Amino acid sequence: MNKGMLYIISGPSGSGKDTVLNEVFKRCPELKFSISVITRPMREGETADGKYRFISKAEFEEMIEKDQLLEHNEYVGNYYGTPRKFVEDCLNAGKDVMIEVDVNGARQIREKVPEAVSIFVCPPSFEVLKKRLTDRGTDGPEAVRQRLTESVGEIKKAIDYDYIVINDDLNEAVENTVSIIKASKLKSERNTALINGIVNQ
Ligand code: 5GP
Repeated sequence: MNKGMLYIISGPSGSGKDTVLNEVFKRCPELKFSISVITRPMREGETADGKYRFISKAEFEEMIEKDQLLEHNEYVGNYYGTPRKFVEDCLNAGKDVMIEVDVNGARQIREKVPEAVSIFVCPPSFEVLKKRLTDRGTDGPEAVRQRLTESVGEIKKAIDYDYIVINDDLNEAVENTVSIIKASKLKSERNTALINGIVNQ
């Protein structure tokens, strides 16, 4: 059995990657999502059973100590990390996993799992990014400013990814992301067992 595929998706806060991802999961129901552990306070509209598990700084540090995180990073004063066990269990069981991380997390994962396929979701322009962050109203002006500064640094790293998806038109961004997922599974090196099976019969 082939191991599962590991996908990494990043994009600056406000790039719309969550919306893209939600649609991608509707189109790829077999794909598993890696729930991150984070120490940031819950935002309005977030729930304990969503894409994050909210834990204390002490709990997070204990997970680092016990090597239970595949990667972790501090982002705007809070910790974010990917629990190792879920990802490894899925991959070993042949299930594909999507990890959403910032650029530092992506770098750490690429170092550990070089065959991971990485996708960067990019806003069409700086102005659009700024407008999306301001309009969503979940952060105050200072937090928006911090996130914008962080975003510019992140976009500089987009070139390190395998693919860049521009999120201007949502449908097109979703379509492109699904195409990347499908095409990467068809890569010849992932299908050698099938070919050998046919040839050897
Ligand atoms: P937010 O606070 O807006 O939900 O997320 C802030 C940033 O943290 C986003 O760029 C998001 O992709 C990233 N992030 C989410 N989960 C993880 C994680 O497990 N590890 C790392 N390194 N970054 C994460």
